[in-house]
Amino acid sequence: MINIVLFGPPGAGKGTQAEKLAEKYNLFHISTGDVFRYNMKNETELGKLAKSYIDKGELVPDDVTIKMLVDTIEKHPESDGYIFDGFPRTIDQAKALDKILLERGTSINMMLALDVEEEELKQRLKKRALDSGRADDADPEIIQNRINVYLEETYPLKEFYKEQGKFVKIDGHGSIDDITERLYDSIDSILA
Ligand code: AMP
Repeated sequence: MINIVLFGPPGAGKGTQAEKLAEKYNLFHISTGDVFRYNMKNETELGKLAKSYIDKGELVPDDVTIKMLVDTIEKHPESDGYIFDGFPRTIDQAKALDKILLERGTSINMMLALDVEEEELKQRLKKRALDSGRADDADPEIIQNRINVYLEETYPLKEFYKEQGKFVKIDGHGSIDDITERLYDSIDSILA
């Protein structure tokens, strides 16, 4: 079993790359953002709650997010591992994830961190807003807030995984295929 945290700021390309990795290594792709958006579209209680945070570019509270993650994992116990995209985003989420995996006899193998400079992120998000229909991609103020939240609350996770020797930085510039190849190389090196 191999479990990967795909890490990086909003617009780094986590969703696109996670899909490719999930397919190649038969991993179940869990995007907490996608699960929230699905619930928002279907106007569930969870969706309504999440919307009040997502529309402002804030994080959904940890207890809600962690519970949703456990529910998602429990629905998909049969994969060869998981690729976590957009989770964890806080130290408490990372600690909860370790516990959840430990209870299932497994653990995180590596955090692959996509490194992309801020100006490039803003350009990518602007472009994505044209076809994603995501309100949180369309407004420069919300984008800036998401980047600030990332720097304050999520970026410190780097140290959490570094201390465990699991942090791997990946150059997130260049073509989608080039970045995918870099990710494959890193994963293959731990599988070898
Ligand atoms: P994403 O699709 O990963 O960019 O997530 C979109 C939005 O969903 C974020 O800006 C947060 O408001 C919310 N969200 C997604 N994942 C998490 C998480 N792990 N913890 C808290 N909020 C999250």
